[in-house]
Amino acid sequence: MTSEPDMLPPVSSLPAWLVPSVYLNWSEDWLREAVAVATGTNEHLLPRGADGPQRGDVVVTVVGSDPGVIASVELMGATQGEDWIADDAFGPDKPVLWDDLFSGASAYARSSGWLPQEHARLVLDGIAHQFRNGASGTLEPGDCETGQLSPNLHVLRILGHRTITGREMNTEERCNSCEQFVGVTELRPHDDGARAAAESGAVRELARLISDTHLVCDPCHELLHGHSVAAQRARMRPACPSCHSRGTAKRIIWNETIHDEMRLDPDVVYGGFDVPVPTPEWYCPQCHANFALGVVGTRAFGSGASVPLPPSDLDVAPPVESSVPEI
Ligand SMILES: [Zn+2]
Ligand SMILES: [Zn+2]
Ligand SMILES: [Zn+2]
Repeated sequence: MTSEPDMLPPVSSLPAWLVPSVYLNWSEDWLREAVAVATGTNEHLLPRGADGPQRGDVVVTVVGSDPGVIASVELMGATQGEDWIADDAFGPDKPVLWDDLFSGASAYARSSGWLPQEHARLVLDGIAHQFRNGASGTLEPGDCETGQLSPNLHVLRILGHRTITGREMNTEERCNSCEQFVGVTELRPHDDGARAAAESGAVRELARLISDTHLVCDPCHELLHGHSVAAQRARMRPACPSCHSRGTAKRIIWNETIHDEMRLDPDVVYGGFDVPVPTPEWYCPQCHANFALGVVGTRAFGSGASVPLPPSDLDVAPPVESSVPEI
């Protein structure tokens, strides 16, 4: 357990003549930068060179725009070759919005460089204030039904990952719907509260917007919005336990007589009448594995337990593909 709320105020409560030089590092590559900060990887980019920040300077990294989100506040430490070692990093857990730091802050949108001394002070004080008291504003969530969710909300969900889940973000995270691991930059943000908010007409607070935002894989996101029967059919097919391909498994139809006038469904296979036991339910055209779901074990799992179940792969002869039998 760390006592992070104490981390920032000491910087801000320095006497006015001791306010460190503050470098504004506004990143255009908002998604990659937010993931780099949230996962703590060294892909987080800091300005370099003789004109850039030196030991003792503060770098404020901002991503997105209108209003812009503070991704990190770092006190520069020693250099290690070309790379900075930041002694002190604040964030990213709590939402802090750039535009709300002081009036006139929005004029700095998407720019990088040294802040004038009076604005450096206002920025540090403003960050400390929002950090302690919560962000004052909220933002337009965007609409993931018809287009894209706001990049600001997307990065706030990524930066707030530790607050939401209680653990650090990894470069691959589970889809919040199907639980499969996907690279974080490929996970889509879905606004789960949009429908209820549209019905009630209520404006959601920033914290509520963030907790309503779920990171899901593309196929799951498609299921959450309007889509065709064909798309749903493909998405609901189980992944092959042997080659792990998704969306292509075919249901095996047993005991069905095939005759000439019958229109054969290309998305199923006809297994015939010689039904093996145990009976496979699905056929994978990629690797020819056939498998059944619903293998039942009898071990109790508590809510906190997390022992992975061994994969079950029934090895039975492949059924006939859905071609019309020779006459
Ligand atoms: Zn998913
Ligand atoms: Zn969505
Ligand atoms: Zn397969």
